[in-house]
Amino acid sequence: MTFKELNISEPILKALRDKKYEIPTPIQEQAIPVVSGGKDLLGIAQTGTGKTAAFAIPIIQQISRLNAKERGREIKALILTPTRELAIQIDECFKDYNRYTDIRHTVIFGGVNQKPQVDALKRGTDVLIATPGRLLDLISQKYIKLDHIQHFILDEADRMLDMGFIHDIKRLLVILPKQRQTLFFSATMPAKISILAKDMLKNPITVEIKPVDKMKNKIEQGLYLVEKPEKSNLLIDILKKEQAKTILVFSRTKHGADKIAKVLNKTGINCEAIHGNKTQVARQRALDNFRSGKTRIIVATDIAARGIDIANLGMVINYDLPDTAETYVHRIGRTGRAGQYGTALTFCSKDENAMLNSIQKLIGKKISRLSVSA
Ligand code: AMP
Repeated sequence: MTFKELNISEPILKALRDKKYEIPTPIQEQAIPVVSGGKDLLGIAQTGTGKTAAFAIPIIQQISRLNAKERGREIKALILTPTRELAIQIDECFKDYNRYTDIRHTVIFGGVNQKPQVDALKRGTDVLIATPGRLLDLISQKYIKLDHIQHFILDEADRMLDMGFIHDIKRLLVILPKQRQTLFFSATMPAKISILAKDMLKNPITVEIKPVDKMKNKIEQGLYLVEKPEKSNLLIDILKKEQAKTILVFSRTKHGADKIAKVLNKTGINCEAIHGNKTQVARQRALDNFRSGKTRIIVATDIAARGIDIANLGMVINYDLPDTAETYVHRIGRTGRAGQYGTALTFCSKDENAMLNSIQKLIGKKISRLSVSA
């Protein structure tokens, strides 16, 4: 199937060609007709499946079809997402797909001065992308009205609940117009989430994308058995030879991440570390540099990496094994996204063998061993 066959209008097709997207991903193929048709959607899909475009494209399309009177200045689509990094990424997607259309989109999140966000809201916006805290804050200060919302998108519902946003979501549901289209996305569907989804959706169409099969095909996994003192030399060797555009190196600890970044920078390999001890501004700057290609390599802890979604992440390196086998699957799932091929390399020392075994049990295969000197 092609994007054209999904009845996407020419200005958006042009923007997709600029992005070099050749064909729709499975979630786009299935969700775009549902969203364009005005139906509610329950999307069970992880970040990395192309779900942002699956809702952003039909929303841009529907808003850009409105005439000036219908358009007005009010917010017509609200996208709620758990983290500022995700909010910024979604806003960037809107920027990309909206290149030849003219809908206005604004992003708001906490942890920064509200003034520029309020100024943007005062200029009027069609689409608002928000994290829960700042959204409710600006609603209570009367800078935001939700009376004209026609499309409400709840992104990463499971993470929202994990992060304790359930009460914020419930407060919002009371304010939102009852007559609206709701799109509900979650990577997993435990009981709590399906109850929330049932509450929010009217006769939804369910689209489920299984990420695991995709991961198996698209990610090449390799293992180096290497003792701790040798890990940094191995990393330097690999990075010197590696052509991958963007590389994410995982460290189990913040201190470790700093140490790795220091060693690499000393050898002339330009990289940045992100972790919880860095200020949000420093983390955002590192991410912006990474995204724009200024820095090719980022060293991150698992928690700091949560919000990272970079187009075409070329390689993931597990400098240390993670604390759980599931985390390994999440880590390597950051490469090989949306039809691209990716590589995941793991450095395992003797004392990490038990974790390696649990990982291999979970993924159902042995990771191919690579030789250090190669
Ligand atoms: P998402 O799941 O929305 O975070 O998207 C994951 C990544 O896939 C993003 O970096 C997108 O830029 C990329 N992407 C989305 N749709 C396509 C497509 N049809 N073809 C290639 N890449 C895509």
